[in-house]
Amino acid sequence: MPEERWSVRVTKDYTVFSAAHFITYGAGECERLHGHNYRVRAEVHGSLEQNAYVFDFIALKDLLHEIVSELDHRLLLPAESQQIEVSTEGEEVIARFGDRRWIVPKQDCVILPVPNTTAEMLARWIADRLLEMLRSRHGYQPEVLAVEVEENFGQQARYEWRLR
Ligand SMILES: [Zn+2]
Repeated sequence: MPEERWSVRVTKDYTVFSAAHFITYGAGECERLHGHNYRVRAEVHGSLEQNAYVFDFIALKDLLHEIVSELDHRLLLPAESQQIEVSTEGEEVIARFGDRRWIVPKQDCVILPVPNTTAEMLARWIADRLLEMLRSRHGYQPEVLAVEVEENFGQQARYEWRLR
């Protein structure tokens, strides 16, 4: 018997988000604030259930849309950066890098538990959220979950989680 494997993959016009960020690189360099129109894809691997599908496409698209909506039209900031210090003071969030400061209203940004807001880290954060939602809302445990975040045309990062 050949071994069979199944997966579903979604990417839609509404699994996109526009956000601002800046990342650090090299020895103490920090980008200028800029934005991307990110496109996100999610892939779920698992065995076929009784209706002969891996996981409901519509439910998967809805979960992904819900997650990316939290990032849409916001400034993405890293909570675990060694170089960018992020603090909340009242209704404002202040990010500091050396003598540079960015001050934004709290509701205009998202502070993510990542060391740098690279496409790789965004992909992992989205995958973690998606995995948690699949388990808690659908009682579903995928065998493999992959998320791709495209930051520019032809420029994307992929994170893959595997059940051990
Ligand atoms: Zn960028």
